[in-house]
Amino acid sequence: MSTYEELLQRAKKASAKGAEGGRFAMPKLELMDEGAKTIIKNFAAIASTFRRKDEHIFKFFLKELAVPGELKGGRAAFAGNFVQRQMDEKLKEYARIFVLCYTCGKPDTNIIAEEGQEKLKCEACGSKGRIRA
Ligand SMILES: [Zn+2]
Repeated sequence: MSTYEELLQRAKKASAKGAEGGRFAMPKLELMDEGAKTIIKNFAAIASTFRRKDEHIFKFFLKELAVPGELKGGRAAFAGNFVQRQMDEKLKEYARIFVLCYTCGKPDTNIIAEEGQEKLKCEACGSKGRIRA
């Protein structure tokens, strides 16, 4: 093995180690009741943390909660009064399916289309997994 390759190997190991040190912290939803609606105040921030389009997460919530809703000005509103725990569970579920790598669990992923399937491609470990929504 050449010196250059050794250096590369060492660098790879070091960066993998470093990334494992900090486990991904699930962002916290800021909820607010507005009459008979539940508002997620920091929806845009959540989307940017996950590096996903807010519409994509919004559609997931609509489907999961099975109620009408509205996405406006970085906030999401859903008909019905939902408690924090319910909404946190939905967000966790979304992250599990669409954000966190199926292999290494890191959030540095992209959704790609390949062979007519949606896949989650990880920038950290390079693995690809079919999205089962
Ligand atoms: Zn990975």
